[in-house]
Amino acid sequence: MTERTRAPGTGGWPPNFPIEPSGGVAEGLVVRSVSGAIEGRTNGSRRRCSSTNCPGWFIGVLWESGQQAYLCSEGWRYDPASRTVRVVDGGEISARFVSPAPLGIEPLPRTEWPARAALAHRKGWRIPPTGPNPSL
Ligand SMILES: [Zn+2]
Repeated sequence: MTERTRAPGTGGWPPNFPIEPSGGVAEGLVVRSVSGAIEGRTNGSRRRCSSTNCPGWFIGVLWESGQQAYLCSEGWRYDPASRTVRVVDGGEISARFVSPAPLGIEPLPRTEWPARAALAHRKGWRIPPTGPNPSL
């Protein structure tokens, strides 16, 4: 363990995004790309962004394209009512705008995406999506 950890709610972590007892986020939360056209799911991991001087946090996301990414919180917003993470800045599925230029990984063409049945065995997709929060 070389990862630096800070108390939840500090260091730029979105205060409305629940942290699990494991220190990560819930697995299976829906993630939407910048255009909204590509769907991902959180795999539950959370760690500080590796970019120098960035106050953000990475969350692990498995896109339906089969691409695994770590998205910095500087490029996404969490909506507690719908329990959805929306990429709002940077590349379509990378949320990256700090480094390296220009915008991180590009989505694979649909012909190269994994079959849904295969995706359903992978982390983030192996459980049903959490769905809206009825208390909000
Ligand atoms: Zn960052």
